[in-house]
Amino acid sequence: MIIVMKHTASPEDIQQIVKSVEALGLKATIIEGTERTVIAAVGEERVAGIRSLESGPGVDEVHSIVAPYKLASREVRPDNTVVTAGSLVVGNGQIGVIAGPCSVESEEQLLAAAHAVKAAGATALRGGAFKPRTSPYSFQGMKEEGLKLLAEARNQTGLAIVTEVVSPDDVELVAEYAEVLQIGARNMQNYRLLEAVGKSHRAVLLKRGPSATIDEWLLAAEYILDGGNQNVMLCERGIRTYEAHTRFTLPLATVPYVQARSHLPVIVDPSHGTGHTDLVPAMSRAGIAAGADGLIIEVHPNPEKALSDGYQSLTFEQFEETMAGCAKIAAAMDCKLGNG
Ligand code: PEP
Ligand code: MN
Repeated sequence: MIIVMKHTASPEDIQQIVKSVEALGLKATIIEGTERTVIAAVGEERVAGIRSLESGPGVDEVHSIVAPYKLASREVRPDNTVVTAGSLVVGNGQIGVIAGPCSVESEEQLLAAAHAVKAAGATALRGGAFKPRTSPYSFQGMKEEGLKLLAEARNQTGLAIVTEVVSPDDVELVAEYAEVLQIGARNMQNYRLLEAVGKSHRAVLLKRGPSATIDEWLLAAEYILDGGNQNVMLCERGIRTYEAHTRFTLPLATVPYVQARSHLPVIVDPSHGTGHTDLVPAMSRAGIAAGADGLIIEVHPNPEKALSDGYQSLTFEQFEETMAGCAKIAAAMDCKLGNG
C-alpha cells in the first residue's frame, strides 16, 4: 500500500499517518520525493481498517502496490535512486565503472590493476577477497589479507572498493574495508546474508542469480531495502540458458525492463555475462546503449596467469580501448562515463 501525502501535509500529519499504519500492524517507510512525501505501508494489506487511512490528515491518495516487491518499486519511489559510495556514483546519467581483477591475488597484481583502471577512467576497483567458487578445490581468495590489499589500493588511487561478501558473519569485517558489498550471483537468495547487508551502512551491489527471475531478483533487493539500507545497485550478470557458446546469456532487455519498474540503478557485467574476453568490449557498449547505469568489468595485468576468470578478463590495453568505445556511446546517450 502506498499513501501519497498532499503537498501541504505537515511533518505532524506524516507522523500521524505513520502511527496509524503501524497500529494496523504494517511497517511504514517514509520516502521523501522531490515533489511530495509518500509512505510505503508494507505487510498484509488485507487488514481491516486500511481504507480509513484515506481520510487521515494530509493524505491525498492511497493505492495498493501491484508488484510483489514494494520498496524496490517505482510505484513507491518514482525518482531514480542515485548510489554514491566514495568515488563511485551510479544513476541518473552517471555511469559508474567498476573494474579490476576477479580475485585479489597479490599486492603487485592488485596495485597494478588499480592504477591502470583508474587511468582509463574507472570510478571503483573490484576484486574478490572471499571467492564463492563452484569447485571446493579452486582458489578461495586471500580473505582478510586480500581486504587489506584492497584498502591499500584505495589509499593509493582514491578508488572506492567493491568486493564480495559470502557469509553473514563476514559482513562487518568486509564493511570495514570496502565501500560496496557485492552479493554474488550464487548468494542472491541467501536471505540471512541479504538481511545482514540490509543492516550495513555500506552500499550493496546485488548480482542476479543465474536462474533467478526478475521478480525473485527484485524481491532479493527488497530484503536489503526492508533492512533499512537504501543504497542498492542491481547487477545483470547473465543467466543460464540452453546456449553453451557463451558462459552465460546476457539479457540486456533486463536493463530498460527493470528501470521501468524499479528506481534502483542497474549495472551490467559483460565479463561474467559472456565468459569471453573478445565479447566484453561489444557487450559493454551495448549495455550502455541499453541504458545501464554502470558497468563492472574484469581487468587483469596478465589474464593468462589469473587464478580465476582469466578467460573473460581484459588486459589494461583492452580495457582502455573498451572505455574509449563506451565513451562514444555514453556521449550519444547524454550520460557521463566513469571519471571522464
Ligand atoms: C565475480 O564478480 O567475480 C563473481 C563471482 O561474480 P558472479 O557472482 O556474478 O558469478
Ligand atoms: Mn569473476
